[in-house]
Amino acid sequence: MQYDVIVIGAGIAGASVAHFLARAGKRVCVIDRHEHPFGGASQAAGAFLSPMMGRGSQTMALVNRALSFSLELYAQIAPHALIKGGVLRYPKPKESLESFLALTAYLQTLAHRRWRGGVFFPEAGMIQPDQLAEALLRGCDFKGGVAAHEPHYHQGSWHVASWRAPCVVVATGAYPSILPDGWMGRKGVWGERLALKTALQRRYNISAAVAISATLPDQTVAVGATHRRGVEQWRVDPLAAQALLEEAISLDRRLMQAEIVDIKGGMRPANNDYLPAVGAFSHAARLAKEQPLLFKGAKLQGQMPLYPGLYIHSGHGGRGFVTAPYTGWLLAEHILKQGELPEFLRPDRLLLRHFRRQREPGCYDYPSLKGVE
Ligand SMILES: Cc1cc2nc3c(=O)[nH]c(=O)nc-3n(C[C@H](O)[C@H](O)[C@H](O)COP(=O)(O)OP(=O)(O)OC[C@H]3O[C@@H](n4cnc5c(N)ncnc54)[C@H](O)[C@@H]3O)c2cc1C
Repeated sequence: MQYDVIVIGAGIAGASVAHFLARAGKRVCVIDRHEHPFGGASQAAGAFLSPMMGRGSQTMALVNRALSFSLELYAQIAPHALIKGGVLRYPKPKESLESFLALTAYLQTLAHRRWRGGVFFPEAGMIQPDQLAEALLRGCDFKGGVAAHEPHYHQGSWHVASWRAPCVVVATGAYPSILPDGWMGRKGVWGERLALKTALQRRYNISAAVAISATLPDQTVAVGATHRRGVEQWRVDPLAAQALLEEAISLDRRLMQAEIVDIKGGMRPANNDYLPAVGAFSHAARLAKEQPLLFKGAKLQGQMPLYPGLYIHSGHGGRGFVTAPYTGWLLAEHILKQGELPEFLRPDRLLLRHFRRQREPGCYDYPSLKGVE
């Protein structure tokens, strides 16, 4: 069957771009290896919607811009899933209160105030992922239980399983890649998240080294999250979960009486530079052949060679519910209207850096996708 766009991966990254494409009237098919959407990292998330504090970096500007965007979108399409009571932030264990408070100087546009020895952000909140997935994918055809392989190109269309479209967005998170994209330096950071049954009543989230949610309608609180690199077995570790509970108790002693009722785990997808990759997929094989001087540090000459109609949306790390709706919208605008994508988000930045680091062509294999010379 023919679609306008096929999105591979129904996590927050894939569902976000699918949402904006379907909203613009495109026929969108979303494929996932799991039976249900949000079966990967997205089912494990808190999903806390918190601002980033820092010294005004590019990442911080992106996250805080994206936060306003996602809060607005969620309020519009899934108000029942959005819990907005604010977040009370405290310094992380090795951070002094003084240097933590000094960071508020970089928060000009975000509402905040000093409160209870920390900084309170009244606009922050959390979203319930299971209820959000359905709202985002309304208007798309969802095909669950389908593991896609490398797409191939034939007569102007990409072929994926039994579907075809002139445009494909790959949003497969930290799962084994279906594209020849070793140059992106993709990695996963495993995390556990807890649901605790508690008598505690609080209307806002608190956050330091770990985050504890407001009391949810089912009288649980969410606690997130562990960060474990180099994990190969995608399995929840009860010991890591217990250590997370102890950290949460040290932040709020009243959780000593709480009982763990659920532990979820997931692999956060990250790129080499911990920024998302959003945009057209570069034809690395052609670039390596045509511009070998790039390996010696030369500048790109002319246009980056790209696969026709093939895009990537991945690498949202620990903030996918904050950043992916915004970058998904940017990508949809790019696909629909050739809207400009910021250079620091485009996947080709990773390819150019990779070439420079390699120094020699040929020491890395750049296979081409079938059907595109
Ligand atoms: C414990 C934990 C807590 C977190 N807390 C927060 C938080 O509080 N706030 C926040 O904003 N973020 C949080 N995150 C991060 C957030 O969950 C991720 O950034 C986000 O889920 C990544 O989304 P994704 O769509 O890129 O990946 P995923 O959700 O993993 O989606 C990728 C999808 O692609 C599918 N797929 C993969 N390969 C194929 C294939 N070949 N064919 C078909 N389908 C395929 C998978 O089945 C999966 O559904 C947390 C993450 C974890 C693990």
